[in-house]
Amino acid sequence: MRNFGFTTTKSRTIDYEKIDTRLISYILQNEPSFNACLSCGSCTAICSAGNLTSFNIRKLSLQIRLGDIENTKLEIDKCMLCGKCLLECPRGINTRNVIMLIKKGLNIIDKNEI
Ligand code: SF4
Ligand code: SF4
Repeated sequence: MRNFGFTTTKSRTIDYEKIDTRLISYILQNEPSFNACLSCGSCTAICSAGNLTSFNIRKLSLQIRLGDIENTKLEIDKCMLCGKCLLECPRGINTRNVIMLIKKGLNIIDKNEI
């Protein structure tokens, strides 16, 4: 390939056919309210773990919807399960339960049970 002194950026196209939906399907099956998330970020603003670490529950929620299992595994244990996010959510989503389901879902995926 010829060197023109620049490269094109990697495509940011999302191929929905290739997304790993195992985790998001498991969460929505057990906590359907998560589907009402509007990504407002209120949970992130109040988050205890987010104040002390790089944890970002809003970002995590988007990553799960994009099937990013590996990054979810790296981030999820930063949550302290304090439940503050649940009090703040304008959609009344039980975010604490979502966190618990993420942990359970990751275990099930590790065991190849879904
Ligand atoms: S506060 Fe609720 S609606 Fe807003 S980003 Fe968090 S989970 Fe979604
Ligand atoms: S339960 Fe987890 S995500 Fe929610 S505010 Fe507490 S530390 Fe943050």
